[in-house]
Amino acid sequence: MADQSVTDRVAQLRQDLNYHNHRYYVLDAPEIPDHEYDRLFQELKKIEEDHPELVTPDSPTHRIGGEPAEGFVQVEHRHTMLSLGNAFDDESLEAWYRRVKNLLDEADFSMTCELKIDGLAVSLVYEDGVLVQGATRGNGTVGENVTQNLKTIRSIPLTLQGSPPPYLEVRGEVYLPVEEFRRLNREQEERGEQLYANPRNTGAGTIRQLDPKVTASRNMQIWVYSLGEAAEGLFPADHWETLAWLESLGFRVNPNNRLCHTLDEVKDYYREFVELRHDLAYEVDGVVVKVNPFGLQGSLGVVGREPRWAVAYKFPAERAETRLLDIVINVGRTGSLNPQAILDPVVVSGATVRHASLHNEEDIRRKGIMLGDWVELERAGDVIPHVVRSLPERRTGDEVEFNMPEFCPVCSTGVVKPEDEAMHRCPNASCPAQFFELLKHFVSRGAMDMDGLGEQWCRILIDEGFVGTVADLYYLEKEKLKGLERMGDRLATKIMDNIEASKNRPLHRILFALGITHVGAEVAELLTRRFASIEQMASASQEELTEIPGIGPKIAESIFDYFQVSGNLEVIDKLREAKVKLDHEIEIVDPSELPWSGLTFVVTGTLEGMTRREAETRIKSLGGSATSSVTRKTSFLVAGGSPGSKLDTASRLGTQILDEERFVQLLSAPGDALLTPLEAQA
Ligand code: NAD
Repeated sequence: MADQSVTDRVAQLRQDLNYHNHRYYVLDAPEIPDHEYDRLFQELKKIEEDHPELVTPDSPTHRIGGEPAEGFVQVEHRHTMLSLGNAFDDESLEAWYRRVKNLLDEADFSMTCELKIDGLAVSLVYEDGVLVQGATRGNGTVGENVTQNLKTIRSIPLTLQGSPPPYLEVRGEVYLPVEEFRRLNREQEERGEQLYANPRNTGAGTIRQLDPKVTASRNMQIWVYSLGEAAEGLFPADHWETLAWLESLGFRVNPNNRLCHTLDEVKDYYREFVELRHDLAYEVDGVVVKVNPFGLQGSLGVVGREPRWAVAYKFPAERAETRLLDIVINVGRTGSLNPQAILDPVVVSGATVRHASLHNEEDIRRKGIMLGDWVELERAGDVIPHVVRSLPERRTGDEVEFNMPEFCPVCSTGVVKPEDEAMHRCPNASCPAQFFELLKHFVSRGAMDMDGLGEQWCRILIDEGFVGTVADLYYLEKEKLKGLERMGDRLATKIMDNIEASKNRPLHRILFALGITHVGAEVAELLTRRFASIEQMASASQEELTEIPGIGPKIAESIFDYFQVSGNLEVIDKLREAKVKLDHEIEIVDPSELPWSGLTFVVTGTLEGMTRREAETRIKSLGGSATSSVTRKTSFLVAGGSPGSKLDTASRLGTQILDEERFVQLLSAPGDALLTPLEAQA
């Protein structure tokens, strides 16, 4: 029997792991690094192995992932999407190999080595070669339907090549490439907003968005790594051949996969990629080793949440310890006071780290960090280093507590800390730090793109009193510019030409350039799809702004507030006077005015005149939504040939059923869909 302290520890570990699972899988916002999570998980697993009487079916060691989030239609997987057992060193890899060998009673067997992509597992279902459903793993049995979001990823084929089977389910990892993650963070930085922690969670959050436009605006990618199910036909007998077959159908399969015949070859692969991992365009956190022949996989089977025929050999944690020399405060463009750790330079995973982000005062308090402390660093997602914790055991007594400044370090205005925000802020909109940051942002490539006006020149233009608002750039005189030290005629001409050219940038660029809090490139695009001019936006109410898909109340409030400030309106007037383009031509369609707005359709069975996808596109173009399962909310079921169980469900629920002929009629007279069946017959 386990004593009380072990029972208590198990309860604590379960509570902690459940908490971290929720943060990681449901909220996409983990609080602890993966290695810390893995340590807690292994501790619980070990205790449960030693004390089987403490095992419960709801223990985190028996559960896969997290529950599907609300707001998404749920998808039941036909085959459970499993997790993987882990190995953290050669010894545990060897133990896995021995176990497999004993169970199989085989002298040798081939294995595949694949990189373990640190992203989000998805299942893709194709019917007759057409993508019909994409879902997250969720809790392994039930995932979230994210088809619309996945369809925006260009490397996911919508239609397969070659001769795909009538039913095919494949699995893969969608991920945010490192470069794309950096781009998003540059934008966050320019907006003075908190940086995303790592590509994995940012990517997972991007897929688990209710608005596919957000997914579409980020260049997500996929690597497909296994077959879920293929119905009918002859298929390869092992995993290695299957990967090649999937590639021939048009899936993106990782070229670094390797077929190995011995454990030494597996270890070589692992060591090779421990070195190479940072040269990849995506994040990997280990190597997945799989027994190759499907026959052997079948004999090995699955225990609990993990297949016996595969193991994830994790890469080591990339941490280092160093001294925290100081904490400096940078004032962001929106006035946020961002604490930054200045470190004794140290090498972490091949890069020298001198600075690390500390987020905010709360973060510093929670981690118990004092100036002069030894701290542990981790390169989260291998990109941005962050301070994991302080090491109080190494204190000398000379360390001092850190407090946020009471006055802005740039303009000396009293600092404020809104109650519902984690950040301290300088409230002075004309704080030079804010204006300098805004000016840099305004002229930057993604905004007005005024090549030649680098950071240094922005500083000089402000110091010389040439610009006090971004609009002043358009009133610069070449002669005055030329008079600046080291400017010269050529550079002055180039700058003036680029300023002139910037007057015709698309509307979303100027909107982004203005630096309105929470208005990044994506939000700017969403706004310009709805409004034809900045003036129209300026007169929109918060409610109108919130109605735009992808714009929540927080963003709407910030946009609304921006246009209430008279100084901001003056800038816009000056920009217009300078002939900067502040409008564009769009055909503004209010989706709520489309004839099928509010109606939900499910298309099932085979239609003769169009594919199911075409039917769904036509439905959406008329403002309707197309979903995959019939519920009480479904307005119409469009039933083609061999409709299957959806027709039964629709009949049971009393959903209106349309055959193809009636559906086609309605497409040409969409208003008729609003008539009751009796009216329609009349
Ligand atoms: P796992 O580590 O058990 O591995 C299974 C997953 O690996 C699959 O679902 C698939 O998504 C992925 N994968 C990537 N490449 C693959 C390939 N080539 N072949 C097969 N699968 C591949 O995954 P899990 O169960 O989602 O997660 C557990 C891990 O997640 C933990 O080890 C931890 O690192 C992390 N986690 C962290 C926290 C936290 O708070 N930091 C919380 C929960 C989980």
